[in-house]
Amino acid sequence: MKLSSSPLYTASQIQGRVEVLAEKLSRDYAGRETIALIVLTGALHFGSDLLRKMTVPVSIDFIRAKSYKGAASTGRVEFLVPPSLPLEGKHVVIIEDILDTGLTASAIVDRIRAEDPASVAICSLFDKPKCRKIELSGDYIGIELERQFVVGYGMDYEERYRELPDVYVLVDEE
Ligand code: 5GP
Ligand code: MG
Repeated sequence: MKLSSSPLYTASQIQGRVEVLAEKLSRDYAGRETIALIVLTGALHFGSDLLRKMTVPVSIDFIRAKSYKGAASTGRVEFLVPPSLPLEGKHVVIIEDILDTGLTASAIVDRIRAEDPASVAICSLFDKPKCRKIELSGDYIGIELERQFVVGYGMDYEERYRELPDVYVLVDEE
């Protein structure tokens, strides 16, 4: 596997979308006690840029989920890093890099709901709605993608490429 010869989205194109999302969130969460829950590791760059552009107060926490996507179509999700802030009564915004099958985000929503927050929303930079295995829709989406695997801007292929500022498609060699 190798990178596409040119970026699918450049860093400045991404920042444009991030700004739009930050504006929407700032409007919708004004006056609410909000916790942004960044899903490690892929959403680290996105979350950091997004939260710097917000104009209302937001607490920051992290969650790390590991999904096992084998033969089992249900997919099992384990929480390697659970949230550390109390979420009860708070407005929680899950910050994801990309929604694919929807299994990870759905498991995270269930995990968060169990703590009785005032609300839960999903904000994802990328979305691949054609890849869903369960019904799930993001509340704040930056960019829709086709069935393609992307890397860069925090997103990896076997822990590589996270440091790239632009986003590339991973393509077959030759
Ligand atoms: P889902 O549970 O929705 O299938 O998977 C979501 C997670 O899989 C994402 O948070 C991301 O970590 C990973 N993932 C899904 N699609 C891609 C992709 O195109 N590129 C990369 N780098 N990771 C992806
Ligand atoms: Mg992820």
